[in-house]
Amino acid sequence: MSETADDPTTGTHDHAFDATRPPSRELIDACVHCGFCLPTCPTYVLWGEEMDSPRGRIVLMKEGLEAGSDLAEMAVHFDRCLGCMACVTACPSGVEYDRLIEATRPQVERNLERSPAERAFRRLMFALFTHPGRLRAATPFLAAGRALGLTGLVGRLQRFPRMRTLARLTPPVPARAAFARLPELTRAQGSRRGRVGLLQGCVQRVFFHDVNTATARVLSAEGFDVFAPRLPRCCGALMLHTGYEPEARDLARATISAFEDCELVAVNAAGCGSAMKEYVNLLADDPEWASRARAFCEKVRDISELLVEVGPAAQRRPVPISLAYHDACHLAHAQGVRAQPRELLRAVPGVELMEPVEWEICCGSAGVYNLLEADAGEQLGQRKAQNLLATGAEAVAAGNPGCALQISTYLQAVDRPLPVYHPVQVLDASINGSRL
Ligand code: SF4
Ligand code: SF4
Repeated sequence: MSETADDPTTGTHDHAFDATRPPSRELIDACVHCGFCLPTCPTYVLWGEEMDSPRGRIVLMKEGLEAGSDLAEMAVHFDRCLGCMACVTACPSGVEYDRLIEATRPQVERNLERSPAERAFRRLMFALFTHPGRLRAATPFLAAGRALGLTGLVGRLQRFPRMRTLARLTPPVPARAAFARLPELTRAQGSRRGRVGLLQGCVQRVFFHDVNTATARVLSAEGFDVFAPRLPRCCGALMLHTGYEPEARDLARATISAFEDCELVAVNAAGCGSAMKEYVNLLADDPEWASRARAFCEKVRDISELLVEVGPAAQRRPVPISLAYHDACHLAHAQGVRAQPRELLRAVPGVELMEPVEWEICCGSAGVYNLLEADAGEQLGQRKAQNLLATGAEAVAAGNPGCALQISTYLQAVDRPLPVYHPVQVLDASINGSRL
């Protein structure tokens, strides 16, 4: 039987992968097995297992294209991959592991028989986190649980690591902040330089409304009208990065439609930005949407990219603070954006920027990874917290909501809590005089 060909009479296949966009043989063959990526791979760093390294996973992908391969045996290693893309940054041969794992995950979700409990947990996460309305509705109950000490109790449950992680990660957001709304239009101040769309996000708009507000204020002060529509409710990043392709496609179409008349689209969540730049691959086979996705991807910018690209217009005032800069993987590795946030922060008088060791190693958040693979997420969270504390900085700067939650949780766990700011909040404090 040919490579991954489905049997047209039965619809079955005797390969781990089916014939719908399997990982590309050509991309797989680009790996020369040199191992340069291994020290940057969080799961290899934790366990030292070849099959939990980028090189090992690429070998498994190759096997998955062969007749007689068994998905159940290899899926555990794909599930354990954080999708952090540190291996993409490290690889001297330019292996596109990002495209490989993103072709592999939907194969796993289509072809692996997960247990009913596992399926239900995954569905529950998406049903909650990607619906801001539901997440908002849950915040009074979460606040009550905290007041009664229930979240602390659940947070100590050793036998239920997922519940423990969920309880620990839930931030103490007051209902007032969770229900606050960003205006759909914020007008430019001073000379108008253009119009920018701003993605509100799902988790971001409920748990980090202050980051969205700061983003709109900074863009406005820099001379842009800011269009922040209520829809899409979510850009689909959590689904895309977990292999739930049909759901991710629906949300990608909604996101493209919402911003089609914008010249630029700003994103302040690294995971969302990286997903939105991937729509071009996600919708490549859709005749109606492929060209719209391509045009859309060209307009998407992380907020730090956009601000550096247009240059400063507003005056910066001093913000005396030392900050440990945390590279969010979906910004540094997936989008290659490392210089811009540093440039923006260094341009603020009074900011002292500090660099933690192991910048390239993921904090363990990785979308919903810390909930699905709770033990690994916890170990990586503890490791990152220690590395950030070792800088001696007064606060942490991180451009992704998942990283902010994860880092805060594990700093708190060692009784050394530090504030975690999005870089745009530091800029807002500098330009608009808001409080950090
Ligand atoms: S992915 Fe790149 S760095 Fe890693 S083993 Fe293959 S060629 Fe080497
Ligand atoms: S994406 Fe991250 S976890 Fe996955 S193989 Fe690459 S370095 Fe390892």
